[in-house]
Amino acid sequence: MADTVFGRIIRGEFPCHKVYEDDKVLAFLDINPLSDGHTLVIPKEAAETMDQLSDESAAALGRVLPRLCRAVIAATGAREYNLLQNNGRGAHQAVAHLHFHIIPKPNHREGLGIGWPARILDRDAAAALAKKIAAAIK
Ligand code: 5GP
Repeated sequence: MADTVFGRIIRGEFPCHKVYEDDKVLAFLDINPLSDGHTLVIPKEAAETMDQLSDESAAALGRVLPRLCRAVIAATGAREYNLLQNNGRGAHQAVAHLHFHIIPKPNHREGLGIGWPARILDRDAAAALAKKIAAAIK
C-alpha cells in the first residue's frame, strides 16, 4: 500500500488534533470538517479499504467507535451524527488509508449531505444475490 498522509500522522511526522490513541487505533479531528467535531478514526494497520483489514484491527476499531461517538456528541452537543466509511476513489475515498468519519449533524445545513438513489429490490434477483454473497463469506 502507498504511503499516505494518515501514515505520516500515525508516525508523528505530520501534526494532528488527536482525540484518542491506543496500540491499534488513532482518532483526530478532520482538517476540513463538515461540522464541529468531525472526527476521523483510523487503524494503525496500513489497510486501504475495509475488505483488506485484519480481524484484530477491525475488533479494535469496533470496540472503540461507540465510545468515540459518545464523546463527540457529548463534546459538541449534537444529538445526531453520521458514521461514514468510504472504500475506493469512486466511492469518495480521497485518502487511501481506511478511516471512519464521525460527523455530527447539528442542523440541516451542517454535517453530511447524502444522495440516496434507492431502487426497488427485485425479489428473485435478491434471493440469488443473497445466496451468492453468503457463499462468498470466508
Ligand atoms: P475520504 O474522502 O477519504 O473518506 O476522507 C478523507 C478525509 O481526510 C477528508 O475529510 C479530509 O478533510 C481529511 N484529511 C485529508 N488530509 C488530512 C490531513 O492532513 N489531516 C487531517 N486531520 N485530515 C485530513
